[in-house]
Amino acid sequence: MQLYNTETKTIDEFAPVNGNTIRMYTCGPTVYHFAHIGNLRSYICEDVLEKFLSFAGYDVIRAMNITDVGHLTSDADSGEDKMLKGARRENKTVMEIAQFYTDAFFEDCRKLNIKKPEIVVPATSMIKEFIETIQALMEKGYAYQAGENIYFDTSKVNNYYALTGHEESDLQVGVRDDVEEDTNKRNKSDFVLWFTKSKFEDQALKWDSPWGVGYPGWHIECSCISMKYLGEYLDLHCGGVDNIFPHHTNEIAQSEAYLGHRWCRHWFHVQHLNENGSKISKSSGTILTVSVVEEKGYDPLVYRMFCLQSHYRKPLEFSFEVLDNMKNVYSKLLQRISNLKPEGAADEAVAAQWHQKFVEVVGADLNTASGITLLYDMLKDETVSDATKLAVIKDYDRVLSLDLTKLLDKKSEAAGAVDDELTAYVEAKIAERKAAKKAKDFAIADAIREELASKGIMIKDTREGTVWEKV
Ligand code: AMP
Ligand code: ZN
Repeated sequence: MQLYNTETKTIDEFAPVNGNTIRMYTCGPTVYHFAHIGNLRSYICEDVLEKFLSFAGYDVIRAMNITDVGHLTSDADSGEDKMLKGARRENKTVMEIAQFYTDAFFEDCRKLNIKKPEIVVPATSMIKEFIETIQALMEKGYAYQAGENIYFDTSKVNNYYALTGHEESDLQVGVRDDVEEDTNKRNKSDFVLWFTKSKFEDQALKWDSPWGVGYPGWHIECSCISMKYLGEYLDLHCGGVDNIFPHHTNEIAQSEAYLGHRWCRHWFHVQHLNENGSKISKSSGTILTVSVVEEKGYDPLVYRMFCLQSHYRKPLEFSFEVLDNMKNVYSKLLQRISNLKPEGAADEAVAAQWHQKFVEVVGADLNTASGITLLYDMLKDETVSDATKLAVIKDYDRVLSLDLTKLLDKKSEAAGAVDDELTAYVEAKIAERKAAKKAKDFAIADAIREELASKGIMIKDTREGTVWEKV
């Protein structure tokens, strides 16, 4: 497929290098609070990307971390520990908070039909690997100890800013103003691999290390988890655009320093969801969650459709007015699909042609909105039978995951329930008639036959017993 690569800043041909397998890594949530619908925009787009790659015929292995330690409020090395902040807010332990919000995250994903990656790894389960990697970086001369911490020396890598296009001089980008400068750092852009002697008095999560008791930096988590589960060569790495710097920039520096060769060849970033022109975030006021969307009477899949109707590389402005509009569009679409008659066999050759069209249209830099337009074109096409349309809809829904046939399925279920009721009624009447005949009550037997006939049920006595049909 054609896919924009943040690193090359061009739309590149994206396909596996070896064989048919794509190794894909996704930065997971920091589980100190509910995910907001902005975070979930990123996860929806990544989900569609994964499903589209499978749809186009590739095998995808995908891993994701759960950040349950090390992520500070600044995204860099200063501010508060987000997990500690969450635990204090709710008067719980850090691990209780982590478990609760990890479960809540996957529950939101379920509601939005976001598939859980087959590999999900909490950072706290990987401390041994983090320490080993940091040790190796120290031995290779890429890391140093200063003050109480271990830092990565960014001056030792070539092209540290390749992903961002930033310069050292505009390093303040993405970093908060109230951050005091860390004088231990040899270079402004150096970052912490391991914190020892936490500056937070109530730091609950800490582990022994060769450098003293402490905890890992956020960036080393993703590098180690990715390398452990997906190997030395990564095909695709995803996240929201705010992850480009410093998080992904630092991941590249560490991973390539450790491996001694190029690590990830394609970077996929989703633009932000905004409200009133500014980025939706967890730290600002009330959090706009999936539950809030549901409480206001929207099916979560209306939000999914809203995301799929825009392009992942464009910032998306959220409002409930726009969501109202999408609610109508979604409901009309389901209604229209429910009017299709699921009779007869689908024409496989025609369905395959529509499959191929979807691969082409969506394969142009993950153009999900055009994929939805194609779905409407197909619905409109009078040369395609209803059965074929349904087959194509189900095929597209493997990627879109909008439960497009749910109204139709409900209708067939209801029709099935009516059938069951009718069968029970007719069978009871036939048994009654059999008993009447046995008792030589032929008038009653005839009355039952007539009663059934008046309802369009024709019965016939055969050697195997009485059979019936509705005419
Ligand atoms: P976090 O839980 O803060 O680590 O973020 C989880 C994911 O959501 C990351 O990939 C972020 O880049 C992404 N993200 C954060 N805010 C937004 C937003 N407003 N719109 C889209 N994605 C976001
Ligand atoms: Zn990450």
